[in-house]
Amino acid sequence: MILKVVKYGNPVLRKKGAKIDSITPAVKKLIADMFDTMYDARGIGLAAQQVGEALQLTVLDVREVVDRPSTLEINGKPTDVKEFMPLVLINPELIPSGKTVAGPEGCLSFPEIFADISRPEMVDVVALNEKGEKIEFRAGGLLARAIQHENDHLNGLLFIDRMESDTKADLQPDLDELQAATKSALKKK
Ligand code: ZN
Repeated sequence: MILKVVKYGNPVLRKKGAKIDSITPAVKKLIADMFDTMYDARGIGLAAQQVGEALQLTVLDVREVVDRPSTLEINGKPTDVKEFMPLVLINPELIPSGKTVAGPEGCLSFPEIFADISRPEMVDVVALNEKGEKIEFRAGGLLARAIQHENDHLNGLLFIDRMESDTKADLQPDLDELQAATKSALKKK
């Protein structure tokens, strides 16, 4: 089922996600719906906050992006990223590493707003998958960027918080407009 994507200005985007204790049928349904919603919106990642649920849960799939490579290592061995997709991360813990690199980002909660964001180029991840099994891996490239972007959502952080101040100043009128539109739509409910 395709869910409505929450837009900037909705307070749920600023909520830290609660840990998920067990993979209940409701969590399984939410994961399936989040994938439907993400693919429908042609996104590569979606956090639970973006469908109105403040939980430590995100879904990702970078297979559609061919011009921005991703890397993956499991137990130190390079592994096929495609085989690892789609990816569900529950209660993820991240250790970013490597040099900081700037790259373009967008966000389904900020339609038509894009900016270069600087983030560490690699990230070590420990999380649970959709079966509640522990997974550990190191991601690089686009996947590392996407995971860090989604993990920020799980902590109530948004990519505008990581923009250069000049970039954010340029986008501020668009951001203010989006925030106002979201708030007025929420009031009407
Ligand atoms: Zn986002």
